Amino acid sequence: MKINSLKNADLTGKKVFVRADFNVPIENGVIQDDTRISATLPTINYLLEKNAKIILASHLGRPDGKKNEQDSLAPIAEYLEKKLLKTVTFLPDCIGDEIVKTISSAEEGTIFLLENTRFHTEEESNDPEFAKKLANLADIFVIDSFGTAHRKHASTYGIAEYLPAYAGLLMTREIDELSRIMTEPEHPFVLVLGGAKTETKIPLIKNLLKDADYILLGGGLANTFNAAKGYDMAKSLYEEDKIELAREIMLQAEMVNTQILTSEDAIVADDATDSAESIDLPINDIEGEMQALDIGIKTVHKYYNLIKDAKTIIWNGPMGLFEIEKFASGTRQIAKAIAANKSARTIIGGGDTIDAIKDAKLGFDEFTHVSTGGGAMLDFLGGNDLPGIDIIKA
Ligand code: ADP
Ligand code: MG
Repeated sequence: MKINSLKNADLTGKKVFVRADFNVPIENGVIQDDTRISATLPTINYLLEKNAKIILASHLGRPDGKKNEQDSLAPIAEYLEKKLLKTVTFLPDCIGDEIVKTISSAEEGTIFLLENTRFHTEEESNDPEFAKKLANLADIFVIDSFGTAHRKHASTYGIAEYLPAYAGLLMTREIDELSRIMTEPEHPFVLVLGGAKTETKIPLIKNLLKDADYILLGGGLANTFNAAKGYDMAKSLYEEDKIELAREIMLQAEMVNTQILTSEDAIVADDATDSAESIDLPINDIEGEMQALDIGIKTVHKYYNLIKDAKTIIWNGPMGLFEIEKFASGTRQIAKAIAANKSARTIIGGGDTIDAIKDAKLGFDEFTHVSTGGGAMLDFLGGNDLPGIDIIKA
């Protein structure tokens, strides 16, 4: 995929609007997780080197068009100042005459951070007038928010109608890494999928079914596929209305010689709590009040052996209810197995999956690429066109 990279833009004396993804958890003004912010630092530093005027923009939370203190980006400005060792001027809105004036009269190399774009309803409705007002602030648009690339919002999409659009360095890296894994996967190619929302993983499974050699399922997803195989999943988390689809996918997999493995044993309990009594049972023995809450030891071993020999691995979705210590072991062991395979390209993504990596005390540098996009990554690997990428296609 050919994209307009920021590296090809003439930046001298330019005002550059950078759409970042600073949608991070903040409690009482304190940033709880800075992964997404630090991912955009290379783009900001590059623009600083070029002495451009930098106008940073992002959404935060779901304020639904209403200004409120809790969803203010002000704490991000402070954070950026500490990281960049430069003044970051926080502006109280993202549009308006005052803002235009302040930015225009500033010196080159100044960094601004605009207030939450979602304080205006026009952001999510991709209102053309609003997009134009955002565009009025700058000469160039840079999209670096891979995590929002599947959305058609004013600051991620509409603005490109009025300004030349370029991919930021994070965006470029995401596209390069994810494209590469789709176009030239080395074999064995193993997909590890778990989590809860089957719907969101189906495009990826369908798109990579032919190329993958093994699809290892865990979590709620495996429960649904096990139910499709005819097992009684009792009170486990699974999706009844996706059973037919799961059957279809297993048939398609057979036709293209891809093996879909579902958990053959599970850690089950009657209660999804740490104090519940749990036991490792074959899937066939699940009944009554039982819930399958983690993959069992046999399954971990089987998956471990396939992960160990893989040359390409994509992982999305925890293997169980890892937020509860008692059901975290399967996810941790799979995370460690993937990190330990240093001869494979390993791509990880998904909000909860990233939490699981941290829970397993693994660093992001243990993997080839940890995507900052959950939904966007799944859409991209599902072969879909993403609006935020369409605007930067060369
Ligand atoms: P991601 O955000 O990485 O894409 P998902 O959102 O699809 O992942 O799913 C993650 C959620 O699924 C987690 O909160 C996890 O606890 C839950 N989950 C996974 N397996 C099970 C299970 N067997 N029973 C209940 N919840 C599960
Ligand atoms: Mg999730």
